[in-house]
Amino acid sequence: MVPDYLRELENCTLCEWRCSVNRLAGERGVCSIGIPEVAAAMLHPAPPQSYTIFLAGCNFRCLNCQNWEIACYPDSHEPVRGFVDPAIMAEEALAAIRSLKGRMIGADRIFFSGGSPTPSLPFVEEVVKEARKRDRSVKVNYDTNGFMTEESLARVLAFSTSITYDIKAYHDDVHRALTGAPVAPVLRNAAEIMTHAREKLWEIRFLVVPGITVDEVAPVAAFIADIDHTIPFNLLAFRPNFILEHHPPAIQYLMEEAVREARKAGLVNVRVHGYPGVAGERPGEHQSPGAEGGAALARRIAEGAGCPAGVRDCGSCGLQQDCPIKTYRARRSV
Ligand code: SF4
Ligand code: SF4
Repeated sequence: MVPDYLRELENCTLCEWRCSVNRLAGERGVCSIGIPEVAAAMLHPAPPQSYTIFLAGCNFRCLNCQNWEIACYPDSHEPVRGFVDPAIMAEEALAAIRSLKGRMIGADRIFFSGGSPTPSLPFVEEVVKEARKRDRSVKVNYDTNGFMTEESLARVLAFSTSITYDIKAYHDDVHRALTGAPVAPVLRNAAEIMTHAREKLWEIRFLVVPGITVDEVAPVAAFIADIDHTIPFNLLAFRPNFILEHHPPAIQYLMEEAVREARKAGLVNVRVHGYPGVAGERPGEHQSPGAEGGAALARRIAEGAGCPAGVRDCGSCGLQQDCPIKTYRARRSV
């Protein structure tokens, strides 16, 4: 018996792919998932400290995914916890936050992540509702790649205390080459949050991928600074992962350059996270985009992993349900 709150999955338009498939009848959209399933859930010490619920599945197919086992579910064939009754999930989260370990790490909220939580939005809302029945003051963080409809964003803003928001690139060709999705909805939703829900925005995150997103730091930072130069901008250092398992990590020099670029664009609240501990005084091979450019390099790497698309657009791709990227198995991860 399918609960009423999942009925909208009979015609799923939760994210900007707007697949209109009946996920409850076995049809699959870009995210490939049916009913929402929890991959794992645990206390997590990274700010904002939380009880983090990782939802299986994702509406992006990022070459650099660090959680590919979860994001590519079910095609990854990795084990997940599965569907969990929202009331049980809520009680578990509250108990963990109140536990000695939860208090020791300063956990004060339920953090929804993935994969991407957007294909599981009705489940997320139900967990929040159940949690707030038990504790009206519990905080909630929504971790997102931004690729949701305006309607879904309004729903997220209605329950979120904080939002952690990824912008992978500013230019559409780089964003598509890296994620398989267009950038316009991501920038539109980021602008909406920065303009109308600034108090909810914990930070905007940007992954510095040598040779691919290095030249995107300045335009992303300028885009943010144009709206609000005080928005926290968190630069993350790439480590070899998934399709990019043989790609070089971001060296210290590159991260320092990225901070300088972001500040030059006008941002005053720039930080670095996931510091690679990879020394380097000068951009080495592949650290800077070569003549080829970041989008072309990412496309070439995707092609090497089996994606034949000249312009990656997973929503319209004929291989969507038979996608070599979703079944890729990284042999190496950091
Ligand atoms: S990709 Fe988005 S619109 Fe398509 S089925 Fe998944 S959540 Fe729904
Ligand atoms: S093969 Fe198609 S669905 Fe798979 S990543 Fe490439 S464009 Fe996207």
